[in-house]
Amino acid sequence: MDAPVSFHPPAPASDEAALLDALRARAPRIVHRAPDADDGTRWHRLRIGGRDWRLARPISFTPYASSRPCSARCAFCSENLRTERGSVPAARLRPDAGYFAGLGRALAALRGVPLSWSLSGLENTDDPAWLLQLLDTLRAAERDGIAIEDRVLYSNGAGFAHAQGAVLRDALLQFRLSWIELSRHHHDGATNQALMRFRAGEPIAGRAVFERVLATLAEAFPVRLVCLLQLGGVRTPQDVAAYLGWARAQGAGTVIFREFSELDAGYRDNATARYLGAARVPMAALLQACLADAATSAEWEIESLTEGYYFWNLRLRTRGGLQVVFERSDYAAMHRRHASGDVYKLVYFANGQLCAGWEPGHDVLLDTRAAEPAHG
Ligand code: SF4
Repeated sequence: MDAPVSFHPPAPASDEAALLDALRARAPRIVHRAPDADDGTRWHRLRIGGRDWRLARPISFTPYASSRPCSARCAFCSENLRTERGSVPAARLRPDAGYFAGLGRALAALRGVPLSWSLSGLENTDDPAWLLQLLDTLRAAERDGIAIEDRVLYSNGAGFAHAQGAVLRDALLQFRLSWIELSRHHHDGATNQALMRFRAGEPIAGRAVFERVLATLAEAFPVRLVCLLQLGGVRTPQDVAAYLGWARAQGAGTVIFREFSELDAGYRDNATARYLGAARVPMAALLQACLADAATSAEWEIESLTEGYYFWNLRLRTRGGLQVVFERSDYAAMHRRHASGDVYKLVYFANGQLCAGWEPGHDVLLDTRAAEPAHG
């Protein structure tokens, strides 16, 4: 068995705490995403799988995409992290003929819960037929009474560069997608490819194709570009400024600079965990450097600070209208929440399990393959 990995703290905790205190004082708006334990308006009570649960609001539902291996092979891909407690990784499960019937049963059990659709996992657009059927299933659930706040797709863009790209875009328009979070970790094509390692024959790897896809998507939905900070990628205020200049020219409305999630000791020391430790660029330090660098941030205005249940982010606005977000997350905090007995996240996996976290076989709320799923 691999040994637990040890990690350097992403930034001295006291520095980050001081920065957060300063931002709380400066931000015109602070959003608390995690409900207080006694705030009855922020909890939804649900009986599912024969047990009573409290669901934190807002809560998102992810039908974890894993019908094919991803079109990219990012060295930092969190889907390749493995925990000490072990289980079949979600990324290895493939949907079978009963997948959509099981998804329908999971959604029926959630009727009455206000949700957001959060379409992530591996790459949703790599299997257009699967994605189109997924959208049909989710729309049917909405017609059956599931109330949806946001509909969000997380994508590397690959499927939009293939023949069915326009079909997918139109289907997402009909689905009333709220926004798309499009991963691109450097504006230079070759530098990005060194980070994302798209498979041979993926047109999205090239800068010109990506820019064309981005322009097409930006005509249809708000596009939020996601850039993971890392050595070899964006790591200095000058890098940030160059990326923002490119994003603005390409029609993106938002750029999210995200630090690699901070891992806890529950993860095995595999190649992905080692990469995350070695290539990490602390967001708090970079944000402070950007705020101190007039050439980068002279026109920025702070809009809000969000403190989530395992992440925090700062939203700023440039004079040109681009929204800029700096974000970091902490898996130790996420795991503490998920172990609390309350439900903060809903994920449906290809093995038919509806879970309150990202690991099939753990925190199972409902197994749709069980002979008689209990509900109510
Ligand atoms: S695009 Fe996303 S899912 Fe695919 S390898 Fe990269 S991080 Fe993983």
